[in-house]
Amino acid sequence: MQRYFVARNQLRGRSVVITGEDARHIERVVRLKEGDRVTVSDGAGRDVLAQITSFGNNSVLLETIEELKENNEPRVQVWIAQSLPKGDKMETVIQKCTEIGAVRFIPFLSARTIVQYDARKEQKRLERWNKIAKEAAEQAQRSIIPQIDLPRTWEQLLTVAREAGAAFLCYEKETSLNLKKALQSLDKSHFAGGDRPILLAVGPEGGFELAEVEQFRESGGREISLGKRILRTETAAASALSCILYEFDEI
Ligand code: SAH
Repeated sequence: MQRYFVARNQLRGRSVVITGEDARHIERVVRLKEGDRVTVSDGAGRDVLAQITSFGNNSVLLETIEELKENNEPRVQVWIAQSLPKGDKMETVIQKCTEIGAVRFIPFLSARTIVQYDARKEQKRLERWNKIAKEAAEQAQRSIIPQIDLPRTWEQLLTVAREAGAAFLCYEKETSLNLKKALQSLDKSHFAGGDRPILLAVGPEGGFELAEVEQFRESGGREISLGKRILRTETAAASALSCILYEFDEI
């Protein structure tokens, strides 16, 4: 069944209105008709079954039928910290990792970040990232839309790493600890349920500097290897996230 996210206050009464691109999607792409049903979600975990009652001018009116108890979220929460990559690679990371099951994205700047950071464009870019996360979450049948932070400094990222239940930094020069061993050393029962997230940090095109790896370790994290092949920065997070969910029996 198709899933659409609406603002939380939209799900208060019996009727719901879907507008904008989602309305266009219902009418023109999946071509639903009056009487057809969709899942409407508030993006924060509440899902409702709703039936289309009429079509307006670029809007679709629905009536709610019942609360759905389905929850498609993994039991383990993974935060993806991605050093800002060049071009539109951050969009790729957000799209793919939302499909797979990340709950939060933390873009950050590190020593070898290449991209010119432009604070004036920040708001527009964040809006675009949020749109990509919403569309990916709808298509993947997620119950939530992942949170996307404004870009953080390296020091701010270290603070976030201290707050996480476990923090791993992907480091291609690490030879002794791979992701599998690191995950197997965790007491899984502490992480299922969601209040102890796992933070996964991925470096920029030029990688992390040794000093950064050491600072991450001092902040309670650990550097890990994703194997002997060197992955592109936009591949690393999706690959590692899949491994984490596999290890937690979610894949
Ligand atoms: N410094 C390297 C490549 C960096 S790859 C070079 O220029 O040759 C970009 C990022 O992807 C790295 O910072 C790391 O976080 C992650 N990464 C890629 N391959 C990895 C691997 N085999 N193990 C762990 N992390 C990896």
